[in-house]
Amino acid sequence: MQPELIPFSRPFLAPASLERLTAVLGSDHAHGDGPFTRSASDRLSTILDGGEVLLTTSGTHALEMASRLLELGPGDEVVLSSFTFSSAATAIAATGATIVFVDIDASTGNVDPDQVAEAVSPRTRAISVMHYGGTPVDMAAIGSIAADAGGLPVIEDNAHGLGVRSQWGVLGRIGTFGVQSFHDTKNVHAGEGGALVLNDAHHRLRAEIIREKGTNRSQFLRGAVDRYTWVDWGSSYLPSELNAAVLDAQLAAFDEIQASRHAVWDRYAAELGEWADLVGATLMRPPGGIHAAHLFFVLLPSRHDQADFIATLAAQGIVAAFHYVPLDSSPAGRRYGRPLRELVRSEEFSRRLVRLPLWAGMTTGQVDRVIDAVTAWRPGEAER
Ligand SMILES: *Cc1c(COP(=O)(O)O)cnc(C)c1O
Repeated sequence: MQPELIPFSRPFLAPASLERLTAVLGSDHAHGDGPFTRSASDRLSTILDGGEVLLTTSGTHALEMASRLLELGPGDEVVLSSFTFSSAATAIAATGATIVFVDIDASTGNVDPDQVAEAVSPRTRAISVMHYGGTPVDMAAIGSIAADAGGLPVIEDNAHGLGVRSQWGVLGRIGTFGVQSFHDTKNVHAGEGGALVLNDAHHRLRAEIIREKGTNRSQFLRGAVDRYTWVDWGSSYLPSELNAAVLDAQLAAFDEIQASRHAVWDRYAAELGEWADLVGATLMRPPGGIHAAHLFFVLLPSRHDQADFIATLAAQGIVAAFHYVPLDSSPAGRRYGRPLRELVRSEEFSRRLVRLPLWAGMTTGQVDRVIDAVTAWRPGEAER
């Protein structure tokens, strides 16, 4: 008999989600910016310790809004780690600006600030960073590079790190913009969804306009203007109340979700160490122990081990995954950007990395099975 499949990720089902959805469907307000959008935005602000929160249809769209608010365009450059999700890059490419890809710190997967400093030129208009697994990027170093370059805006992609507190502040609140994703693979989800966090109040009015199809409807709803009309470039970046209702239920359960995910993460960290030492693998070890329990990664001894490790677990009904292919070597990355130089650490990290199943509600038995499968794996001799 095949063992029960252990998926890589499983969306959390928050209590009272169905009640909230039924309430929206039975009301006259299923479009955006209704009571559940307000409630979810307030909960998010509480988790983030403030900040002006605008819910969006995705994290990708929040990144796009940030690019538009910065009025990026052809001839401009944005510095970005090559080891990140493609959305951060495509949001820049959409404006015609050029991406300058830089390398990572080989222990965390986060951007290396020294490379950011080197990549900044007179054409640089922004720095975009991502807290991998919710382990904080050195925001003091990034902040001082941005200040030295005359106050460059910083986009903080915090899709992995909701609720994480660092020595530089709550993640998502430190840069000019914070970006959250509520895709159903993230700790908190709305099916698809996201949020733009404005940490600089002067962007608020234009952000509302861009999000509402280029109109000043938000001001109209607040009674600030007596009619609303088309005033600027925009799109439809606001989620429906259906998505907001699901998100509201998830955010209400945030502490429970995080406690459950951290318990799984802690078991991997505690019970895989001996195996890692034996085979020469490296476990995720965040500096200061700070992370969001969004993911648990293992760096295998060599790049030849990745496919075999994933296949060995798959044969036991366990889905492990790798990501990201370094963006500078991707077809679109070559078209829309260029690397600062050869980015050897991103390449090596991406070839050796595997991620283990991790979600809220994973049972002890499921975690046992993953740990048993991993600790039974040994590197092959053939490729060496
Ligand atoms: C998921 C993710 C995004 C994109 O978010 P969507 O809501 O799926 O558009 C952006 N950046 C990172 C690092 C992500 O993990």
